[in-house]
Amino acid sequence: MSWSSPGGPGHSRGDGAVAAHAPAKVNVSLAVGPLRDDGFHTLHTVYLAVSLLDTVTVRPADRLSVTVTGEGADGPDPVPTDRRNLVWQAAELLAEHAGVAAGAAIEVHKTIPAAAGLAGGSADAAAALVALDALWGIHATRGDLTGLAARLGSDVPFGLAGGVALGTGHGEQLTPVLARRQWHWVLGIAEGGLSTPAVYAELDRLRAAGRLPDGTAAPESGPVLAALRSGPTAALAAALTNDLQAPAISLRPALRRALRAATGAGAAAALVSGSGPTVAALADDEDAALRLAAVLAGEGVFRTVRVVHGPVPGARLVG
Ligand code: ATP
Repeated sequence: MSWSSPGGPGHSRGDGAVAAHAPAKVNVSLAVGPLRDDGFHTLHTVYLAVSLLDTVTVRPADRLSVTVTGEGADGPDPVPTDRRNLVWQAAELLAEHAGVAAGAAIEVHKTIPAAAGLAGGSADAAAALVALDALWGIHATRGDLTGLAARLGSDVPFGLAGGVALGTGHGEQLTPVLARRQWHWVLGIAEGGLSTPAVYAELDRLRAAGRLPDGTAAPESGPVLAALRSGPTAALAAALTNDLQAPAISLRPALRRALRAATGAGAAAALVSGSGPTVAALADDEDAALRLAAVLAGEGVFRTVRVVHGPVPGARLVG
């Protein structure tokens, strides 16, 4: 199957630019297995793609360059614009795979905050694969792109797939999940990010000290999958879990107050998204989400709040 856009080459702009966008994710369940001898953890997670999108625009050029605008472009720890940026690595990997020269001017417009537990860098990498595939006329199969995505990072295949999916292995082995409806969320975005490796290290430390239960190698995703199938917000609210929440709170104690603020303001439930520090607050419907966002914005607990819904599709070309 070819990974082509519905509009085909019509997506290319006048100056030869091609753009793709990709969504942030919330982990509605995230179980982290015990630390293995190879230093990794086995994950068992259910991803939900939400309507907070980054846009990656690529233009013909002789060599690679990356510019970043929007969330995280400035400040003390800006998103890198060199080879450390995942879109750069995506470009090199795709070019090598297809045997083409890695030349492109890549512009990343971020609305997904960096180091927020929303997999923004992974979304950008997925969008870059789709946009560069079109720019370079590669027509890679979806399977090929997914294989490249998994080499770039555990969350990148889900950035391509979108929707709702069960992720196992390191999170990169995906099984699509049936979801009957849209859910409405308020994302409470904190000042400053949290390093994902630091949160895992804190989880290991707390487990080794007996302050958190050990992870199980084969955890139970049944309740959250049933809730996603059956629909009522209360069922999903009751099934939300995240093993990284306690270590994220341990590193950033203000998160406890932020979670309480969300439930106190009427959220059906609230949890830390991935490794944090973003708080994902589940609302009963869109109106409730808008009301919740207004209350939370007024309380000033978060740097900013965003009203989103999901599931939404994964990386795709935009016209
Ligand atoms: P993870 O995907 O590890 O769970 P996250 O979702 O919390 O992390 P990201 O926004 O993906 O966080 O960024 C993590 C780090 O990756 C950043 O601090 C930054 O240094 C680096 N990075 C590389 N490429 C990008 C990118 N395109 N956007 C944001 N960060 C990037």
